[in-house]
Amino acid sequence: MKAHDGMYIDGAWRPAAGPDVIEVVNPADERVIATVPAGTVEDVDAAVRAARAALPGWAATPPAERAARLAALRDGLVARRNEIAETVTAELGSPLKLSQTVHAGVPIAVTGSYAELAATYAFEERTGNSIVFHEPVGVVGAITPWNYPLHQIVAKTAPALAAGCTVVVKPAEDTPLVARLFARAVHEAGIPAGVFNLVTGLGPVAGQALAEHPGVDLLSFTGSTAVGRRIGAIATGMVKKVALELGGKSANVILPGADLARAVNVGVANVMSNSGQTCSAWTRMLVHRDQYDEAVELAVAAAAKYGDRIGPLVNAGQRERVRGYIEKGVAEGARLVAGGPDSPHERGYHVSPTVFADVTPEMTIAQEEIFGPVLSVLRYADEEDALRIANGTVYGLAGAVWAGDEAEAVAFARRMETGQVDINGGRFNPLAPFGGYKQSGVGRELGAHGLTEYLQTKSLQF
Ligand code: NAP
Ligand code: MG
Repeated sequence: MKAHDGMYIDGAWRPAAGPDVIEVVNPADERVIATVPAGTVEDVDAAVRAARAALPGWAATPPAERAARLAALRDGLVARRNEIAETVTAELGSPLKLSQTVHAGVPIAVTGSYAELAATYAFEERTGNSIVFHEPVGVVGAITPWNYPLHQIVAKTAPALAAGCTVVVKPAEDTPLVARLFARAVHEAGIPAGVFNLVTGLGPVAGQALAEHPGVDLLSFTGSTAVGRRIGAIATGMVKKVALELGGKSANVILPGADLARAVNVGVANVMSNSGQTCSAWTRMLVHRDQYDEAVELAVAAAAKYGDRIGPLVNAGQRERVRGYIEKGVAEGARLVAGGPDSPHERGYHVSPTVFADVTPEMTIAQEEIFGPVLSVLRYADEEDALRIANGTVYGLAGAVWAGDEAEAVAFARRMETGQVDINGGRFNPLAPFGGYKQSGVGRELGAHGLTEYLQTKSLQF
């Protein structure tokens, strides 16, 4: 057990203002592995002041130099790759291989992409008799969740720094250790004091203080719709810019001509990865009624392969939440064909890979984000029916379409109300804009579109 003190504020590790700490628990064995300070309003205020003080200098730093610091940060993350993976595995519970490839690998790619964008982006343009400057929005308050703990910090911090903004991050209470590791990498990369600040703490205390702080110009939040709605309203009321990356209930639409086995196998893997704790997970599989029974059989076989390979959920509360949804699915008449609320593990917050068949669109498990390893397989009659079901939730974050013919899949995808669609198993692209239609959020992250979120324009007329 390691007791960490201090938070990274103004380029140094400073003792917290108050005595409270947060216990970090390994969800695989339920042991406390560390404590970190629970930041208060005072700590947030110190961090925002540091970020404000650093803003003019960083905003005036030439983009090529900001790019060089981001490239150094990427190299630092590469050097710490194993340490990042081990830390995420310890505090989130994800299998080490997933931690290496995704939890460490994606933030490295994203940091690298912003090193490149900072160097190449056109921060000024001409239109008619004007020059338009793309200037940093200012001080960014970032509130992040635990499910992809480093990715979500990097997806906000890297574009913000590339744009010339300064940042205060409040990471999730469950995963503060990889955030501390990131702060060390920032320091080693020679990013000036106050440009990046980290305040660990509880959402309703430190998170709320950041959302309400008058010194924050842009609030970027990733997490639950309930919290996002509340703090989005606070920040909007103060005329701050707000970016929200919220939940999802994404559809995996398998059209009749598709390679059914591949579509089902990739679809099940997509849901079970990270124990289902993925906002963009394809948690609704839509299958034509003529292929339905075969698809369910394939899904059951695929889920069985994940039995011992997925990690636990992040904490006891999430496990109870997911079990509650599974019980609700049964109560509402869905057919449990794999998994269920129990787990063979004696310790750890596990839930077995679970598949429901005979799910109808209005059921709770087909409407609400479960955030666990639970797949709902739904039946459709024809393409219009499939589209109505796919678009029939309050969410619109991601999705997939499989078809025999790529053009057919694209035509269907164009009618989906969602921010991303993978066509016939298309790969994750760290440069493609990521974000939600409808209640999945406001704004986009990643790539050039993610950079523009942190910029505002100033026009000079001649
Ligand atoms: P959450 O409460 O929304 O947590 C996200 C972040 O917001 C955390 O840093 C959290 O701090 C902070 N926060 C919580 N209450 C706050 C407040 N009143 N003011 C300011 N910040 C606040 O999410 P959760 O409770 O961890 O997870 C609940 C559900 O949210 C999940 O089951 C899932 O459905 C959804 N979720 C979605 C995503 C996504 O990527 N879209 C990610 C995580 C969760 P604490 O860590 O201290 O709570
Ligand atoms: Mg919470």
